[in-house]
Amino acid sequence: MSGPRSGAGRPPLVDRFGRVHRDLRISLTDRCSLRCTYCMPAEGVPWLPGPTMLTTDEIVRIARVAVGLGITEIRLTGGEPLLRPDAVEVVRRLAALDGPDGPPEVSLTTNGLRLPALAAPLREAGLARVNVSLDTLRRETFRTLTRRDRLEATLAGIAAADAAGLHPVKLNAVVMRGVNDDEVVDLVRFAVERGYQMRFIEQMPLDPGHTWDRRAMVTQAEILERLRAAFTLTEVPGRGSAPAELWHVDGGPATVGVIASVTAPFCGACDRVRLTADGQLRACLFARAETDLRSLVREGADDAALEAAFRACLAAKKAGHDIDDPAFLQPDRPMSAIGG
Ligand code: SAM
Ligand code: SF4
Repeated sequence: MSGPRSGAGRPPLVDRFGRVHRDLRISLTDRCSLRCTYCMPAEGVPWLPGPTMLTTDEIVRIARVAVGLGITEIRLTGGEPLLRPDAVEVVRRLAALDGPDGPPEVSLTTNGLRLPALAAPLREAGLARVNVSLDTLRRETFRTLTRRDRLEATLAGIAAADAAGLHPVKLNAVVMRGVNDDEVVDLVRFAVERGYQMRFIEQMPLDPGHTWDRRAMVTQAEILERLRAAFTLTEVPGRGSAPAELWHVDGGPATVGVIASVTAPFCGACDRVRLTADGQLRACLFARAETDLRSLVREGADDAALEAAFRACLAAKKAGHDIDDPAFLQPDRPMSAIGG
């Protein structure tokens, strides 16, 4: 086989469109301490049954195979990944993996609530950085949006990540019409003043109520229009496979990002593959098919069989997510059970 190789042995994870996969997102749990409306229902969540959840040994085993196939970045997510009791231990073991490209960079996407207690131990265990979700700076909006009154705790978590040196601290906000779309300038000011990077996300059709409406969605163009009324934005070149497009704010060095998954999909450069907390490999957030790595691992599959499963999963990866196609179907799992 010609083309890029993954260090000393195995060819990298390339799909049929030539996309080399370097980024593995691992969901540590589907449980969460918040109930963001765009992600989870208020109640009656169909939790993944406990015995189906991967053990830490199983997660590390799968990640070790992936790192051997050229995965260089591992992002832990959920649900709320820090609800997993041994989250620090998981980070320690993943950050110690050694593949042909060296150890992977391990990062985390979190709602921040447990960071006051865990930021320092996570850093010590080898965590490189964090993305914290912060959709609003208004207590009442936070309460309505997440169905929990925890804005202060989230802000304390962000400060703890900063103090622990988990840099750069990136903040993510899903922009929703009539909810927080009037806050984008305030959120950027909040981030810039503290040396964080604010990133806005177009809402995707992953809500449990299936109420997402393309016409009501706040687009990248609208977000930029609001920001340009307050700041001078200059595009930062060299985006690579990153989902966020970046702009310097008022000449920099501060930057703001927009993840325009719907109006400007970045599928052509996608290098991500996802492992759910119950051991299903997904080639895309919006995939409708999954590859059952949990059964393989529990049946005693060797590394070659796991490698074959990774390759088969990516061989079926589609060119794009087709959200704008009238025939688009939302995945069966909610976002909290896929791993955002
Ligand atoms: N609980 C953690 C958190 O909130 O950061 C990690 C999991 S959460 C599913 C990961 C990211 O997905 C968050 O930034 C969240 O805002 C985003 N997200 C969830 N549902 C979304 C949706 N329908 N559209 C766009 N982004 C979404
Ligand atoms: Fe929980 Fe994150 Fe989903 Fe909010 S976005 S409900 S914090 S998993």
